[in-house]
Amino acid sequence: MNIDYESGIKNIGNTRRLKDAFARAERGESLTIAFLGGSITQGSLASRPELCYAARVFAWWEETFPKAKFTFINAGIGATDSQFGCARAAEDVLSYKPDVISVEYAVNDMSTEHFLETFEGVVRKLLSADNSPAVYTFYNVCYDNGSSAELMHSKIARHYNIPAFSMQSTIYPLLLSGEIENREITPDDLHPNDRGHEMVASVITYGLDKIRKGEFSKEKEPERLEGAKLPAPLTANAYEDSVRYRNKNADVVSCEGWEVDEAPQDHITDIFKNGWTATKKGAKISFKVKGSCIGVQYRRTIKLPAPVAVAKVDGEEKATLNANFDETWGDKLCLDTLLDHGDAGEHIVEIEIVDAPEKSELPFYLVSVIASGNLKPLYLKPAFAHTIWGGERLRTDYGYDEPGDDIGECWGISAHKNGEGIIACGQFAGMKLSELWESHPELFGNKAPDGSRKLPYDRFPLLTKIIDAKADLSIQVHPDDEYAKVNENGSFGKTECWYVLDCPEDGSLVIGHNAKDKAELEDMIRGGKWDKFIREVPVKKGDFIQIDPGTVHAIKGGILLLETQQNSDITYRVYDYDRLQNGKPRELHIDKSIDVITVPAKSAEEAVVNFAEAPVNAVTQMYSCKYYTVSKVNVDGCVEYENRAPFLCVSVLEGDGEISGFKVNKGNHLILPSGWAKVLFSGKMELIISHV
Ligand code: ZN
Repeated sequence: MNIDYESGIKNIGNTRRLKDAFARAERGESLTIAFLGGSITQGSLASRPELCYAARVFAWWEETFPKAKFTFINAGIGATDSQFGCARAAEDVLSYKPDVISVEYAVNDMSTEHFLETFEGVVRKLLSADNSPAVYTFYNVCYDNGSSAELMHSKIARHYNIPAFSMQSTIYPLLLSGEIENREITPDDLHPNDRGHEMVASVITYGLDKIRKGEFSKEKEPERLEGAKLPAPLTANAYEDSVRYRNKNADVVSCEGWEVDEAPQDHITDIFKNGWTATKKGAKISFKVKGSCIGVQYRRTIKLPAPVAVAKVDGEEKATLNANFDETWGDKLCLDTLLDHGDAGEHIVEIEIVDAPEKSELPFYLVSVIASGNLKPLYLKPAFAHTIWGGERLRTDYGYDEPGDDIGECWGISAHKNGEGIIACGQFAGMKLSELWESHPELFGNKAPDGSRKLPYDRFPLLTKIIDAKADLSIQVHPDDEYAKVNENGSFGKTECWYVLDCPEDGSLVIGHNAKDKAELEDMIRGGKWDKFIREVPVKKGDFIQIDPGTVHAIKGGILLLETQQNSDITYRVYDYDRLQNGKPRELHIDKSIDVITVPAKSAEEAVVNFAEAPVNAVTQMYSCKYYTVSKVNVDGCVEYENRAPFLCVSVLEGDGEISGFKVNKGNHLILPSGWAKVLFSGKMELIISHV
């Protein structure tokens, strides 16, 4: 029998953690070796437990490192997938502080995006354990047709740089070539027999031994990455933080006709424990859980007839839980999805028995409710622009750690290449906002169920800035989408709006102009008749000004404001007060300006609305147009906001507090990702929120 072991090594990855474990074993230390997976890991169809692959791989550790002391943890549970693996990894594996973890779910998971996400969840969960265990995976295979979730799982193995070994590339070819008959190694084309387990173990130990000896062909030489930080997830990663609610930790809201099962659990494979049972039609139990993904686990039994239940989320029926299992091999632990990437707030899950045969042998067994996908805000690290008119207030008033006395702009929420925001913390830390927009459209409500983009934007559509004008800004105008598309390489036009954060007593802004028609406009601009042309409008703190494309405008010295705008940086400068930058005047765009300026301008009174006295503990909409809706939030206590937007941009202007339990303070800019339907603002603070 010629197993092509080399082909079985699908990924060597970063072997640092594994090599640390080898070194410690060599020194004779104590190590715990854990195996997480389904029925094959559990030892199914091996004639004795010590003949299953996991025990054999464990024996390899003992033989290879005779001085070390090893502890064996077998956390295989038959007919369960990596979604359940996420929910039980902490209790069944990580609680033993294993030094090395083998994880396999390739014939339990299907080859779908859902299992790409759940497998990512379990791998991240294992890799991020405090004691930095070495993690590797391998792919079992269906021996009749060669199928498995290897394609999906290997994306995760490569992304996290973990070693991976394949049975499809080693054992399966022997069956195809006729070198071995299927029945010699597996009675059911899924579970190996003793000989099959031995072969599976040999593929794994070949790979481990090769890593131990450091023998790699050149193309398989692993990256020698250091540091424990995980890369940003490939998927929406809603399962890593799964919490499994059983009778010991569940938040039961109401219970009628259900009994708590208090019998102690023997072993992890003693799966129908710690739950609730019911026998009568009409029995109802409800739980409060939090998260965007919810599953329910229950027993399907071969002892027919059995009861049937329905599961509801927030009053809406989501699944029928039929406990009748028309099979012979045994009772099964089922995990049904009730909510898949829904709203990430609190939900009420209710299970009700709707059909109970007179003489069912076993009650309905509700094992657990599993919830995951708790959203976290995307805090941003702003970019700064230094300008001839900028000052120091972005540092002194807002606390940004930016040097210089010419800080003009803080690009708080920006995916524009001229000043890109970086995700400040969490699993996406270090990514640019534009990268996140591209790679994780689901965070922005931009992924349809078929995987296509939902929103009509080819880039992150908004841009929020705080502007400190120590001196006057140039008199300028922006084009609309149509003009920009033709004349500015397909860029967006620029519609923007201002909220005045601070302003001197006699503060003013340039908004609009005094030309009554196009001819007068040309005459005033080309003739430099600025005194006549420029229209200054007095403003005060709390004023809101919408600047449509074509509106002549300028921020005057002494004003501090928050600008919300389309994600664009196309500005036509009309007049720059004949100032010099580095000895030269800045470029003007006279022709384009005359092209786009609206004549006559909108009246000055209409342009400015004051929101300084916006109601407390309320969300006050200041403006809504086709590009954005901008609101002010005054909090002194708390206010709940129903969010229907795909994502929400938030900037904290004053004070501090919490957003749905996450701390924020003055100067913070963040995005609440998709699924955040209810937002709870609390504390004492003022915010500006915007959305498309
Ligand atoms: Zn502007």
